[in-house]
Amino acid sequence: MLIDNHNRKINYLRLAVTDRCNLRCNYCMPEAGINFAENNKLLSIEELITVSENLVELGIDKIRITGGEPFVRKDLMVLMRKLAGIKALKDISVTTNATLIGNHIDELKALGITNINLSLDAIDKETFEKITRRSQYEIVHRNLLRLIDEDFNIRINFVVLDGQNTQDILPILELTKHHNVSVRFLEEMPFNGGSRTFNTIKWDYKYILEYIQTKYPDITLIPSEKTSTSINYKIKNHVGSFGLIPSFSRTFCGSCNRLRISATGDVITCLYGKPVANIREVLRAHQAKENLRDEIQKAISTRAANGFEAQQQNRGVFDNSMTSIGG
Ligand code: SAM
Ligand code: SF4
Repeated sequence: MLIDNHNRKINYLRLAVTDRCNLRCNYCMPEAGINFAENNKLLSIEELITVSENLVELGIDKIRITGGEPFVRKDLMVLMRKLAGIKALKDISVTTNATLIGNHIDELKALGITNINLSLDAIDKETFEKITRRSQYEIVHRNLLRLIDEDFNIRINFVVLDGQNTQDILPILELTKHHNVSVRFLEEMPFNGGSRTFNTIKWDYKYILEYIQTKYPDITLIPSEKTSTSINYKIKNHVGSFGLIPSFSRTFCGSCNRLRISATGDVITCLYGKPVANIREVLRAHQAKENLRDEIQKAISTRAANGFEAQQQNRGVFDNSMTSIGG
């Protein structure tokens, strides 16, 4: 079992499979992209499988595949098939921009991988294209509707961006009226590859909630797991639900059960901290399994208590982009 130095059980791995992406969301990275890792620095699919299998043996029972955009990786489904076969893994999920998922929907469903977090920061086409700096609106909407039709468990991630998409907050909630989806509003964090720095945000989770209540005063809190990062609500007579993720306010750190491994093998024990180890060379050397397990155990024995403490220890943190951290 993986227990950190604050007595928190770590059972959730967020595994990034690439730092590349076919979109350029302006809150995530600069228009020109970032310095993407060289190919030989990315963990191979076999290495990602070794990491997953070993971490599951150490007590991980939930893996989220993320990136960059996971589906830009041509061999992604090889990993997904393997994960689907790991019995002790209770929950496999993917975070995606949904541009490239179309060809894989049938197989994902057959594998039982139906938990999809789909990033969609606008309901309006022009706003979507302004934010993502690409023309992929139609395909994303088509894939979203297909995933809903196919009974996937869909959570829409909507990063609330002051001056860009707040006019779409209420319209996107309309989706929850007839569809069993959860729309989760994320506070913006300054992990955008250095394009913009900020120390405060107007649209924090409390402000977003107050805004939603101007139209929907009749909402009820849905009880959530202790380790949940979202505070979830139901609007009266809506089939779906919505959630608020205080990713900037960091109210959920006390019960954090997450470990991140980046596409290049960085081990990140807090989103706001710097990598505490890199397992790439460990995986490529002799006794990979034993040394990998040691590295992971060591990493979680020095975790910061919360994101504020981690940020203090990591002055350059906001030069990072979410595409390389993995979200
Ligand atoms: N490309 C995939 C996607 O967009 O869903 C997966 C990777 S993306 C880095 C993971 C999540 O991080 C997405 O939901 C995205 O909206 C979120 N994200 C990226 N940059 C962010 C930022 N600066 N603040 C808050 N959330 C951010
Ligand atoms: Fe790509 Fe996801 Fe970052 Fe958007 S948020 S640029 S889709 S990695």
